[in-house]
Amino acid sequence: MSNERSRETPPSRRAVLRTAAGLAASALLPRGLTAMTTAAPPATGRARRDGPRIVVIGAGAFGGWTALSLLRRGAQVTLVDAWGAGHSRASSGDDTRVIRAIYGGNATYTDMVLRAWAGWHAAEERWGRRVFRQTGALWMFEGDDTAAATSAPLLAARDVEVERMDAGEVARRWPQIRADGIRTAWYEPGAGYLLARLACERVREEFIAMGGTWRLATATPGPIRGGRMAGVVLAEDGNATRLEADAYVFACGPWLGTLFPEAIGTGVLPTRQDVVYFGLPAGDTRYDDGRFPVWINTGARLMYGIPGNERRGFKVADDTAGSPVNPTTLDRRISPAALQLARATVARRFPGLVGAPVAETRVCQYEMSPTGDFLMDRHPEAENAWLLGGGSGHGYKMGPAIGEDLTAQLLDARPVPEAFTYRAFAAARARLTSTSTRRHS
Ligand SMILES: Cc1cc2nc3c(=O)[nH]c(=O)nc-3n(C[C@H](O)[C@H](O)[C@H](O)COP(=O)(O)OP(=O)(O)OC[C@H]3O[C@@H](n4cnc5c(N)ncnc54)[C@H](O)[C@@H]3O)c2cc1C
Repeated sequence: MSNERSRETPPSRRAVLRTAAGLAASALLPRGLTAMTTAAPPATGRARRDGPRIVVIGAGAFGGWTALSLLRRGAQVTLVDAWGAGHSRASSGDDTRVIRAIYGGNATYTDMVLRAWAGWHAAEERWGRRVFRQTGALWMFEGDDTAAATSAPLLAARDVEVERMDAGEVARRWPQIRADGIRTAWYEPGAGYLLARLACERVREEFIAMGGTWRLATATPGPIRGGRMAGVVLAEDGNATRLEADAYVFACGPWLGTLFPEAIGTGVLPTRQDVVYFGLPAGDTRYDDGRFPVWINTGARLMYGIPGNERRGFKVADDTAGSPVNPTTLDRRISPAALQLARATVARRFPGLVGAPVAETRVCQYEMSPTGDFLMDRHPEAENAWLLGGGSGHGYKMGPAIGEDLTAQLLDARPVPEAFTYRAFAAARARLTSTSTRRHS
């Protein structure tokens, strides 16, 4: 790839759309499951009076997009969340999330992210508002760069631009970076970040505008009898009501294991993740998203960050899964160790920001599955209940594709990749002996 290509070149949007269309045409495979409707997909439709009634619990990236997608296919959907879309304790509730196409040489995720990208673009057009910021993403490898090197042919085959460069080229293009110790770097000009919590709210607004029913309530799964879940109980303002539907989708993020202690339990483990936003010098745009990329530095740990970050400051975070937490009661004050690590990263890579003040901090949680793969399948004992989660630190960007895939699974009996099935999840959970063996994509 040419280094001279403009950093503003869109992420092969043509390729994104072409890939999405190709996948849509080829993926309608039977699975032997009972489809709930055989209607042709009116992808831009609204709820139909005769559409299946579906309750989606959780209005984060996974549940919000699924609810919207089901609604656009004609289902009558109720979306329920205990605290609102993209709230402060939700995994989707930060200002920003990275979207990039290098995916460790994994073709499933590569195709998924390209479909998601197409979904984000389409949504931006419907909303008349941008939620994607194209900054490019720079991967800096201090050691093995297999994750990027194995992705390169996949991306080339899909017409997605990626450039390999050495430390000297990094320093030349971004003099803000101290390039010492970088063995190779890979740059995705089309990548960037999404306005995470804002987009959750946009999805909810579109869902309501198209006829979806929104409830701010806590849902408890009903009993499972004869292989079916018998409703959910909603607690709203201290009152409990029962809600029955044809199907239930539990997209409860880090709460999934609490809701289903046996089927999920610690198989989806909420882990503590500390994030620091350093204040930028006044009137200085060198670290802002017009001039600086999303960056990922892989060395002893994988550290990453987002430039400018919606005026919140220069975001720095550690991708290592932290200690298990309770997402409801977690005290979200940053730890001194996390702050020290973020400062050390800045000192090592971004010398111009040494001594920058902490503008804000945030403590979030990953929802780690045993393999780092998503879970998108029926409850093992209830044919009308779906379990959706395990974002494992990389799920936000996939929202539109996840919504599309769960909808196709639920309405058309279209299978998801084996890695996302309950079977694969349960087998990996059984193999798991300690949290440290969890893989993070
Ligand atoms: C620090 C950090 C950085 C990350 N960076 C990236 C990134 O750069 N790119 C990327 O793609 N991904 C990233 N991720 C991962 C991504 O944010 C998550 O995988 C994704 O947001 C998970 O979405 P979700 O909908 O499954 O969960 P959530 O957003 O947590 O949503 C679950 C929702 O379910 C609701 N809920 C739960 N139980 C109930 C109940 N009983 N009744 C009613 N409502 C209920 C909750 O209130 C919540 O709103 C990151 C995550 C963290 C923490």
